Amino acid sequence: MPLIVLSGIIPLISVASFYATENASKKITQEATENLDLKSILLAENIQDWNESNELALLNLSQQPDIIRANPNTQQTILAKIVNTYEHLYLAHTINLQGWNISRSDGKKPQYYGDRNYFQDAIAGNPINYQTIISRTTKQPSLCMSSPTIRQEEILAVTSICTDLTALTEQVGKLRFGQTGYAFIVDQNADLLVHPDPALISGASLTNFSQYPPVKNILEGNVGNFFSFTDDNNVKWVSHSIRLGNNWAVVVLQEEADFFASKIEFQKLAFFINFVVIVGTSALTFFLANRLIEPIRDLSEAAITISEGNLDQKVNIKREDELGILAFSFNHMATQLKKSFEELQQTFQKLEKAKEEAVLANQSKDQFLANISHEFRTPLNSVLGYAKLLQRDQSLDADQIEQLNTIQQSGTYILTLINDILDLAKSQTGKMELHLKEFDLLNCLNGIIRIVEREAKDKGLKLKTQFKNLPNTIIGDQKRLTQVLMNLLNNGIKFTSSGEILLKVTLVETTKNRNLPLQQKIRFEVIDTGKGISSQELKKIFQPFEQVGNIESRYLGTGLGLSISQQLVELMGGTINVKSKLGKGSNFWFEVVFSQETISSNKSQQPYIGVIEGYKGRKRKLLVVDDRKENRLLLANILEPIGFKVLMAENGEHMFTVLEKERPDLIFLDLLMPVKTGFTSAKQLQQESEYNDIPIIILSACSITPEMRRYVNCKAFLNKPFEEEELLELLAKYLHLEWIYRKKEEISPIPSYKNPTKQPVVS
Ligand code: ADP
Repeated sequence: MPLIVLSGIIPLISVASFYATENASKKITQEATENLDLKSILLAENIQDWNESNELALLNLSQQPDIIRANPNTQQTILAKIVNTYEHLYLAHTINLQGWNISRSDGKKPQYYGDRNYFQDAIAGNPINYQTIISRTTKQPSLCMSSPTIRQEEILAVTSICTDLTALTEQVGKLRFGQTGYAFIVDQNADLLVHPDPALISGASLTNFSQYPPVKNILEGNVGNFFSFTDDNNVKWVSHSIRLGNNWAVVVLQEEADFFASKIEFQKLAFFINFVVIVGTSALTFFLANRLIEPIRDLSEAAITISEGNLDQKVNIKREDELGILAFSFNHMATQLKKSFEELQQTFQKLEKAKEEAVLANQSKDQFLANISHEFRTPLNSVLGYAKLLQRDQSLDADQIEQLNTIQQSGTYILTLINDILDLAKSQTGKMELHLKEFDLLNCLNGIIRIVEREAKDKGLKLKTQFKNLPNTIIGDQKRLTQVLMNLLNNGIKFTSSGEILLKVTLVETTKNRNLPLQQKIRFEVIDTGKGISSQELKKIFQPFEQVGNIESRYLGTGLGLSISQQLVELMGGTINVKSKLGKGSNFWFEVVFSQETISSNKSQQPYIGVIEGYKGRKRKLLVVDDRKENRLLLANILEPIGFKVLMAENGEHMFTVLEKERPDLIFLDLLMPVKTGFTSAKQLQQESEYNDIPIIILSACSITPEMRRYVNCKAFLNKPFEEEELLELLAKYLHLEWIYRKKEEISPIPSYKNPTKQPVVS
């Protein structure tokens, strides 16, 4: 993070300081230039003042008309007074027309000045004349000025003053700036008048500076500007010059390095400051970032530790700022989390316990139901089976047939009740499942109608069917579909006293997707003209044990039928809907999508009760293993008349004794038997190579769970009480039998059932 911050800050600082330094450097250069400029101007002004005072002195002298007339002594007094008044004058004198001093301020003997230009120019009539010379008196550069003394347009003499430039030299000589800066003055002839180097301003005559680059530059007319040049020693200079009123020039100059020194110094300083700022900023950023990041890092590490399950983790940050508050909140959160987690754990443990108890309770409920069902089914198997067998007896009179019917009707009712309760238990625990198989829909529907039509007839009701565009075969759970339709039809019959019941089955739509079998949506409808259901009651009828309407009609059922039917239809992917009008009738319907496979041409014709006479081929041997004698005999009574040899064993152990003597073609095996159970026996049979190819059909009153199916690896399961068709179908399948049927006229009429809520059990 500090690196991210710095990578943003450093370029910013650098760019900002570069611009600041650049601007400051420019300013410094400008200031230095202005400084040089100013110095030359000041110097020029000084010289100008000095010059003006000289002119004033000369004027003062020449304006005194008496000076010529005065005697030499008086003259001398006047001249000396002038020299004393203007302190830089070293000489004031009057010169006669021959060039000799008439009088001198210093009182020295007269000397000849006729050779000096300033005398000759004055004689020539020029009012003010200048000449720069090396003074014979001072041996120093001097300025001599002259003016003719005129009376009535006649030149009488020449008055002159001589100024020593020493004072100027001193003044200019003192002017030093930077390490190398100085100034010099040249006259109109580029002769050097003032210079800090005494060697250059002493000697017999003035040093001519016209070849010196800045002076040459002035002579070329460039005055008042900056001029850079390189001298003979290869040193670079910058200079500035100003031309004075008397055509002298003041030049100030400085070595370029010196001139820019302050700028370079500044740049160095700026660089140093930048460096310090950047290093300082970096250090500060690292420091601050660490101070900021460390607690955040602590927080995130603590969060990770907590997420790994260590709820005792705390953050040790004691600060007054937001991070401190955050750390406090974090610790508070961790404590709360720990508390909540502990509470959750306790709740979870309680729930676990409750769940275990519920599972145990459920298991005992399942066990209880399984036992009860087994206990009921076993005797029912005999009751229903024998009642059915007896019905075939041609010698029975009408009363006996009626009595048998009552036995079968009551037995069937008990069986329905048991089946319904088991189904309800299964649906509540989600254990209800469908067994899909290809079946003939029309056949199935006709079978259902055949069963319920007698009941309808007995009540004087019309039972109508309307089948539209139905496919020949569908894949579904025929048993469960039958159960639902039977329930709806039986209810229709039960709750209708006059009129009709219509079973309407229609193909609603067919969909064919590529690579998928044909999908057919079929609508099943049961419409009656019965007593109907009020809208209040409609809400309740699908709830288990819910019976609505008047008391008399309730004894006819259990109140489970619709609840189970609804569960079954939902399992098939549909929902039962109902429309009903009190006193007018009800309409129950549901839609289910079935897959249709190609119709198998060699589908065996469904055997029918009492229709089979025997089978083709050799006599097959069947072994029935059941601890209840009546069950063994029931099978023998059904199967021996149609040509099977039925062997019997009381339990698993006995089975193996029988097997030693005779080898059956198929074994019917009960599950719950004393001595050796069907489970153990089936396992043992599969393990012994001698017997493991004999097909086994489990025949049990236990409700068979998928776990049981997996455990006992047998050909098929048949629940007691079983249906004869199913039994015969399984035999045909595993023994590859071809049935021999009785001739039509030999078939006895089907006995009548009063209340067949379930397809009658046949044995
Ligand atoms: P039951 O064993 O009582 O028939 P169901 O679950 O099959 O139980 O039906 C629940 C209740 O719904 C019935 O008791 C009856 O009051 C009402 N019911 C069901 N079908 C019809 C119908 N077709 N006409 C009138 N009432 C009906």
